[in-house]
Amino acid sequence: MLDLNTLQVASISSRLAFVLVFFVTLLRHPREIYFGVWAGALCCSLIGSLLMLGDPPSVPLNAVKGSIVYILYGASLAVSWAGLRLFHERAPLIPQTLGLALLSGLSYGILPQIGASVTWSLSIVFICIALSTALCMWEILRTPASMRLWTQYIVLLGFGGYFIAFLLTIGVIHFANERLASPESGIYSLLFDLWCGVFIQVGYLAMVSERAHLKLSRLADTDPLTGLANRRGLFAALSQRAGLSPSPPRCAILLADIDHFKAINDTYGHDGGDAALVGFAERLRGVMRKDDLVARWGGEEFLVVLDQADATAAATVAERLRKSAAGQPFTVNGAAVTVTASIGVAVVAAGEERIDAALSRADAALYAAKRAGRNRVCLAPSPPPPDTRAVRAEPSSGLREAMEAIQVVGQPRSEPA
Ligand code: GH3
Ligand code: MG
Ligand code: MG
Repeated sequence: MLDLNTLQVASISSRLAFVLVFFVTLLRHPREIYFGVWAGALCCSLIGSLLMLGDPPSVPLNAVKGSIVYILYGASLAVSWAGLRLFHERAPLIPQTLGLALLSGLSYGILPQIGASVTWSLSIVFICIALSTALCMWEILRTPASMRLWTQYIVLLGFGGYFIAFLLTIGVIHFANERLASPESGIYSLLFDLWCGVFIQVGYLAMVSERAHLKLSRLADTDPLTGLANRRGLFAALSQRAGLSPSPPRCAILLADIDHFKAINDTYGHDGGDAALVGFAERLRGVMRKDDLVARWGGEEFLVVLDQADATAAATVAERLRKSAAGQPFTVNGAAVTVTASIGVAVVAAGEERIDAALSRADAALYAAKRAGRNRVCLAPSPPPPDTRAVRAEPSSGLREAMEAIQVVGQPRSEPA
């Protein structure tokens, strides 16, 4: 049989260990203040537990000691709520946190003095504590489900357990007080407290690590200048898509390269060039659909994967992008600068499992657009079906032949085709 003292020592030891972990983590990452707040919350409950050491659970606490202990327990949950708000980048509500912390303890000390029964005073204490617990759960649940971390459900489980336990305690106080006073109930409630506490503290550590991991992989997949995906991000998105759909991709590729970008850098400086890149990325976002994948492919080269698009649709989108860039000047270091782009378009052919071959065709089409005078869209021909490909792949059918087959589909009106 479990005994109360052993459980109390185990509970205090586990909280001490978590306080230590939180403080050390805070020292290493001083900007993650929530670790300090959670450590503070744990310290409150630790001091409360130390004050209760040796007190039999069946004997009610006197008014002064009870007030202090319940203020500490109330503070522990209210401060946990403040820590969760900080974790979610919401400002902590200090008056409400203090109010919740004080209300639970003061109700225990003051209400019996003004004639309320111990049963009702204790009920108010547990209602306040349950309210803090509900607020902790609310901070997690109010985050949209798509942005919620999986590990947050571990924390939710811990607070959910506390919430149900507090509500049950209120019921027991009113309808079965003698059960609450039994030694077994003290042991079981302490055991339950130990479990919920461990779920919450381990959950905190797990959710901080899950979020850090997500942030890192997002950073690794994103171009810091334009905020678009980088090559790694694009391939990650493509392979995620391939994992979701069993059929090969049916998509088209646009490869856009800003014309004479070096001249923009030379005239307006590197900062000016950066501003032009950011502006171009914005125009790019403006013409793409939600399902299209857009990436910064290299210095002043951008790649778009159009989902479920054939050659005609892709050429239309490319032309819209070309016009969107050339149609209105960009603001570069306060000056209005016309930025144009050449765009190569290729479609992923039936039977192609990967986009690599289409990428090479889009690159050849882009090269053709540059050679034809820039500021235009060129469409690469689709490759022949797999059974005729072997016949066509003779030494004579090289890059020149491919270039000749490339079709100019969009160009400025003033220029000849
Ligand atoms: P073309 O019309 O043939 O494409 O000529 P271009 O001048 O656009 O192309 P080129 O390849 O000669 O020059 C690209 C320049 O882009 C060279 C490189 O210094 C510059 N560049 C690459 N990345 C960045 C960047 O992140 N910021 C800035 N400002 N410039 C960059
Ligand atoms: Mg260029
Ligand atoms: Mg280039």
